[in-house]
Amino acid sequence: MNTLKSDIVIVGGGIVGITTAYYLIQSGINCVLIEKDPIGSHASGFAYGSIGASKIQGPNYPLALKGCSLHKQLSEFLPGYTGIDIQYRDKSSIRLAFNEKEKQYLLQNDSNLSEVEFNWLEPSQIFSLEPSISNLIIGGVFIKKSMDVNPYNLLSALHTAIKMKGVQIIHDEIVGLKINSDTSLTVNLKNTPSLLSEKIVISMGPWSNVFGNWINVKLPIMPLKGQILRISKPGILENCSVSWSGNYANLKPDGLIWTGTTEENQGYDESTTVESRNQIMKSAVKMIPSINNAEIVKQTACIRPMSPDNLPIIGSFGDYPQIYVGTGGLRSGITLGPAMGKIISELILQNSTDMDITPFSPDRFE
Ligand SMILES: Cc1cc2nc3c(=O)[nH]c(=O)nc-3n(C[C@H](O)[C@H](O)[C@H](O)COP(=O)(O)OP(=O)(O)OC[C@H]3O[C@@H](n4cnc5c(N)ncnc54)[C@H](O)[C@@H]3O)c2cc1C
Repeated sequence: MNTLKSDIVIVGGGIVGITTAYYLIQSGINCVLIEKDPIGSHASGFAYGSIGASKIQGPNYPLALKGCSLHKQLSEFLPGYTGIDIQYRDKSSIRLAFNEKEKQYLLQNDSNLSEVEFNWLEPSQIFSLEPSISNLIIGGVFIKKSMDVNPYNLLSALHTAIKMKGVQIIHDEIVGLKINSDTSLTVNLKNTPSLLSEKIVISMGPWSNVFGNWINVKLPIMPLKGQILRISKPGILENCSVSWSGNYANLKPDGLIWTGTTEENQGYDESTTVESRNQIMKSAVKMIPSINNAEIVKQTACIRPMSPDNLPIIGSFGDYPQIYVGTGGLRSGITLGPAMGKIISELILQNSTDMDITPFSPDRFE
């Protein structure tokens, strides 16, 4: 028996689902959010938290710019409204090059991006900014403003905000979906009675693919695991963060250096491993040799949602306009998340959005 009816059900309380609920309720539309685990237990709570568009190419680029601008707005509203410090800040960053090929790659990749203030620095200029950086570098790209946030605090603040505004959050696992003859949806939950809804948003991160089995559509999302170390090494990276070849290190407001990461095809396993710890340490030491014997205070692992073409999936299905999807943020899901949530909320509210979302169509895998 259905005990609850809701016009809109959102499944998944990661950054995409929670911002969808946030933008809907901001527009006066209520919804129910279903989350199987404590808020922030997966990638959206354990990411590194860098926010930016400068490395992002192709159709993701305008989406990332939108994400950056929405993050700024969230940073201006959420701390005052919820009392939670989301630790949003801008800090300089340096992308390091250890050889000519890496230098050319950095310069090539950044030269299209007029929005970002950056310039090439010689090693001596870099050492005067951050003496701990390896003396094997041949230089680096300096980016004056790189944003970051504490992703766990951001999710907590969004969670508090949507609750204060009246969104009902059900802590349960969706285990099935049925499309009724009048196009309404029956959402089956593991421990509580099913829900009847007009529209549903699938924002279950790497777990979103199970929907494909329930309604017979292709939603080919895969998990890509990544790990991060939090290290105690006082006195370094106070003025800038560093990155090199997909690895990064930054002094976070908790006083620890957060450094990562890995890309591991390990299915849905979210456990930390010694192999990854060693791999991350090796890359961190390459960037900052003195980090070698520093104490590892914490190691985290989580899984990113990855689509076959590495682009997000945003929108509704041609055959099922009442079913919306927001997933596939991969390595940029924190940056893109609020833009994805905003776009889905606009599609629900007015059936249109001002951004070209054709490249992100859920129907592209049919
Ligand atoms: C190590 C690492 C570092 C990262 N760093 C950055 C970064 O610096 N910047 C950046 O932009 N991105 C970063 N990312 C990527 C980013 O974290 C992800 O792309 C993003 O968090 C995905 O958000 P999501 O909402 O799609 O999914 P998730 O955060 O995975 O949320 C999905 C939610 O759905 C819930 N769920 C799943 N199945 C069900 C079900 N059946 N019923 C109910 N609930 C369900 C889950 O419990 C989960 O809470 C990083 C990722 C990793 C792994």
